[in-house]
Parts: sequence; C-alpha cells; structure tokens
Amino acid sequence: MRRTRLLSVLVAVLLVTGLCVALAAIALLATTVRSTVALPVDGNNLLLGNPTNALHNSSSSPDNYLMNSRYYTLSYNRDRGEPNWVSWYLGPSSLGSEDRSNDFRADGTLPTAWFHVEANGYSGSGFDRGHNCPSADRTSSAAANSSTFLMMNMIPQAPRNNQGTWANFENYLRSLVRSGDELYIVMGSYGSGGTGSKGYQKAIDGGHVTVPAHIWKVAVVLSNGKNDLRRITTSTRVIAIDTPNTNGINSNWQVYTTSVDAIEKATGDDLLLNVPVGIQKVIEAKVDGH
Ligand code: MN
Ligand code: MN
Repeated sequence: MRRTRLLSVLVAVLLVTGLCVALAAIALLATTVRSTVALPVDGNNLLLGNPTNALHNSSSSPDNYLMNSRYYTLSYNRDRGEPNWVSWYLGPSSLGSEDRSNDFRADGTLPTAWFHVEANGYSGSGFDRGHNCPSADRTSSAAANSSTFLMMNMIPQAPRNNQGTWANFENYLRSLVRSGDELYIVMGSYGSGGTGSKGYQKAIDGGHVTVPAHIWKVAVVLSNGKNDLRRITTSTRVIAIDTPNTNGINSNWQVYTTSVDAIEKATGDDLLLNVPVGIQKVIEAKVDGH
C-alpha cells in the first residue's frame, strides 16, 4: 500500500515537472518567434521603419510607392518623378573598392504606365542628378554600386548643394564608418522650387520631375555591434540636416543641422518609428552638437 502511494506521488511529481519544462519551452519559443517577427535584422535598410507607410501598390499608392533595390529601400512619388525618401544601412560591409559605374538609367521595375525618368532627363536643367543613396556608400560590388545609378534614386539637386555641402556631409558619415561606427540613414526631399546653375525652376523634364525646395538627411550612429535596434538609447547620436536646394548654399553642412522633430513637422513623415516612443521623443528633439 505504502509503496503504491509513494509510486503515485513520484509519478505526479514527474508529470508536474514535465509540464513545467514544456511550458518553459513554449514560452521561450514564443519569445524567439516574436523577436524575429517584430524586429528587422541588423543591416536591414528599413531597420528604423517605413516613415510614410509606403506600399508596393501602384494603384492605391502611386505617390508613396515602396520599392526595394536590395541596396536601398525607397518611397517613390510618381507625380514628383522622384523618391519621397530613401533609406539604407551604411557599415563596414558596404564599403569596398568598386569604382563609380556611372551607368545612369531609368528603372525597369517602375510600373510600365508611369513616366520613366531617363538618364538624360535632367540634361540642360542646371541641376545635377543628385544621388540619395550615394555611389560611394555602395562600393562593395559592381552590382551594389550600379544600383545607385538608377534614376529612381535621383533628385534634381543644385550643383553646389550636391558637390559641396552634400558631398562634405556624405564624406563625414563615411569617415565615421571607417573609424568603427555603423549607420542607418534616411534621406528625403520636400517642397517645390530650387535654384540651380541656370536659375530658379519648379519642375524639369517637361514638368515630370519636381525640383525639391529642401533636401534632408537623418543618420543614426552606432558603434559596430549586434542587435542594432535594441542598442538605440536616449544617448545615441542622431545627426539631422535640412538644406535649401540652392546654388547659394554654404558648403559647411554643420550650418544646416536641425532636429528630427523639425523634419517630421516639415514633411509629415514619422522617422525612427521602430525605436521605442520614449527614446524617439528624446533623440528626435536634439540637435547634434558635433
Ligand atoms: Mn551627390
Ligand atoms: Mn519619429
């Protein structure tokens, strides 16, 4: 009798233990699944989020059309003939020794019925074909570099904005990568009307391409490491600039530093939206002191 009772107690203990182990395993699995679903992986071009909730749907979302070139991700605006914003990762793996391919060309993946900006679409306008994701940020392979020359990655940019202020800022960001950082960058433009080398224009290429009035960029700077999204804190460095698209611009990019909040207010976008709201509030209000 005693032995039987002992045995049943033993069986009960084993059953309860087994149940606990099973529950723990399920909980662990659920956590893993949730984190892989909710958090984009390190190096993802949209790690910080999709600032305008762009959709890859040409009929419902022609002016906020999500496109992924693999080397950068963007929201294309059919009626402006250019991207609203372009988002990309810039880290040690992005940089190599590939030369500029210079193969400017229309993008064949745009919906066929839409106007396609051709390689010569900006010719004679007084504006440069200004890269959003720069050629020099994509030098790891011929394919990566060539992808930056698709016209969907371009805006009409005043030559001195592009070759001066903007080039200086792009070089500065790459220098951070060479000294041990990795960056998540979003660049965009808004408004209409800029002043290039031939004067003021609201649109070029037969009216198909809007000349933006303002060009902005936001860079989130992390030291090299893992779990990038989780490492963004209230003290993470965020550099934001907003520049006028004019040839009379100052070549010193530091003149144009601003807050992410100011860019969000001007554009209506929600930047850094994958960052917890409490952290966004702090880092979006700061102006980088550099
Ligand atoms: Mn450029
Ligand atoms: Mn935000």
